[in-house]
Amino acid sequence: MLRWIVLALLVLAVLDIRLFMFVDAAREETLERARDTLHVSVDVVAQRMDQHLATYDRLLSGIGEGVRLHGGIQAEPDLTLHRLLVRRHALNPELRSLFLVRHDGTMAAMSLSFPAPELDVSARDYFQAQSGSGADENRLFVGPAIVSKLTGKHIFPLSRRVENDGSRFLGVAAAAVDPEQLTTLLSEQGLPAAYTLSVFMRDGHRLACLPRRSDCLDGTAGDMPLFRTLLPAAADGLFARQRLLDERPGPAAYATSDAYGVVVAATADEGMLLQSWRRNLGGYVAMAVASNLAFAGLAWFAFRQVQRRRLALQQLADANQELENRVARRTDQLRRSEDRARTFMNTARDAVVVVDSNSCIVEFNRAAEVLFGYSVDEVAGRRLDMLMPPSEAATHRRHVQAANASAEARAMSRGREVTARHKDGREFPIDVTVGSSGDGAQSFHVGIIRDISERKRLELELQRQAATDGLTGVLNRRAFTAESERLISVALRHGRPLSMMVIDADHFKKVNDVFGHPTGDAVLKALALTLGQALRTSDVLGRLGGEEFGIVLPETDATGAREVGERLLQAVRGRRIEHDGHTLNITVSIGATVLGASDDSFESAFQRADRALYEAKHGGRDRAVLALGEQATV
Ligand code: GH3
Ligand code: MG
Ligand code: MG
Repeated sequence: MLRWIVLALLVLAVLDIRLFMFVDAAREETLERARDTLHVSVDVVAQRMDQHLATYDRLLSGIGEGVRLHGGIQAEPDLTLHRLLVRRHALNPELRSLFLVRHDGTMAAMSLSFPAPELDVSARDYFQAQSGSGADENRLFVGPAIVSKLTGKHIFPLSRRVENDGSRFLGVAAAAVDPEQLTTLLSEQGLPAAYTLSVFMRDGHRLACLPRRSDCLDGTAGDMPLFRTLLPAAADGLFARQRLLDERPGPAAYATSDAYGVVVAATADEGMLLQSWRRNLGGYVAMAVASNLAFAGLAWFAFRQVQRRRLALQQLADANQELENRVARRTDQLRRSEDRARTFMNTARDAVVVVDSNSCIVEFNRAAEVLFGYSVDEVAGRRLDMLMPPSEAATHRRHVQAANASAEARAMSRGREVTARHKDGREFPIDVTVGSSGDGAQSFHVGIIRDISERKRLELELQRQAATDGLTGVLNRRAFTAESERLISVALRHGRPLSMMVIDADHFKKVNDVFGHPTGDAVLKALALTLGQALRTSDVLGRLGGEEFGIVLPETDATGAREVGERLLQAVRGRRIEHDGHTLNITVSIGATVLGASDDSFESAFQRADRALYEAKHGGRDRAVLALGEQATV
């Protein structure tokens, strides 16, 4: 604000100074013109005065010459001299009169009358200046104004000494100049009213004044500054401000004529000169005030505009700042929440894979990198298909489409067990829980993935253990029964032959009694091994309990069963069992049967085989008995 005010004041000051300079220049110009006028006027008037006086000087000299030629001035009136004066006066009619004075001061002749009146002018300065012994030789005398003894009017006397050839003083030739004539000469300069013009002789007596004044010819100006100080210093001068005579100081000029030493002084009244300038001054002031006001108004307007603009810009900047702050705060919040999410994701033990609605991977946490063998950079933007075997990809796509389409499908996609594929091509089971957000094209699916290889292995192991006999490693009774039932139903459905056997160790109690229970166990293990080795891989062997085993032989009819029975008997017979330093042999009895059309279950066939076994035992042991069921297919 302060800067603005100072600037505006500065501009105003410059404006006003320019205006002041303009006004002052106008004043100076007026005064300068006045000085020029004064300078020219005094020079011109001085020259004109010299011209006039030279004319009269020659006139009076001519008269003196005439007197000399005439032989001097007689004591009596002389008509010749009168005529001489009349002729000469006729040539210069502006003069009041011409006259001759005798050497004794009496009037000898006059141009205006004959004879001349008897007058004694010996006391007049125009006579005395020429008659005395110390009179200036041959010089025109220009006297102060005097009152004519004849007319009673003011005249300027001019005189010249008249001498004969021997330079004897004969008298004085004189002329009376009308002061009005000189005043007219001044007025011919056509100076305006503000100017004054005065003509003086060097001694300070005045010859003419303009404007006219009654006391013009009275006294002398010898003690005025012009004569006291200025003229002694310089013959002419021009002043911007000077008091020459009795007027107020102002523009002034004076000059001294070359030939007769006439002093012309001119002054101008500053007040009058500057009248029109002063009249315009009001206009200038009004102009200054108007321009100042206009400028001040403009400056105020500009200042307000700039203020408004600045305020608007400030508000805009504030709003921007506020917006930026909000964006920064929001970005910070987002960044932190993203960090939290990432930290959470990367510390999660489960693999987290986020895909967009096109199944392209957008997030892949550390656990996922470990699980799948890919780094996040390798999978980012690629399709999820790469993480599963090709056989799973189509199923997966169906799931994704369903999840994109409905919330219901999304809800269903939790806890699914599928097969995944490692970077090295290895396939492994995973459990996937999928959470989705958004809808359609904007949706994202977050998969929480857990490797369930270990769990699957344990499950299989448990299954295996549940189906296996702990001692011998062959199927236990329950598993054997289940497997037998499955094979029987297949054989029945397809009308294929199937045989079944029940095998019991002979006199096993003795083995326990003689060698101890652990040896009995070792014998049972060896027996199971021997039986298993003697069978086809498609045959099923199980321990039914104690030292009793069951065998199901698919695709085997009665002939086949007899052959197998014999083979088994031989295999057991030939087996030497070593345990705890003992070597022993055992035998088994075998009850066999072939599946008949009436057999609708395992149980009926099994009972038949069991009965055959009973027969084998009673028949002497170490033998196989085949019991054929009704309508046996054999
Ligand atoms: P046979 O069958 O020839 O008539 O005579 P056996 O001596 O084999 O008679 P039985 O079938 O009645 O006896 C079976 C014996 O097998 C009884 C039991 O002590 C023994 N035994 C059953 N299970 C086991 C087992 O797991 N380990 C051992 N060491 N012995 C067992
Ligand atoms: Mg038994
Ligand atoms: Mg037995």
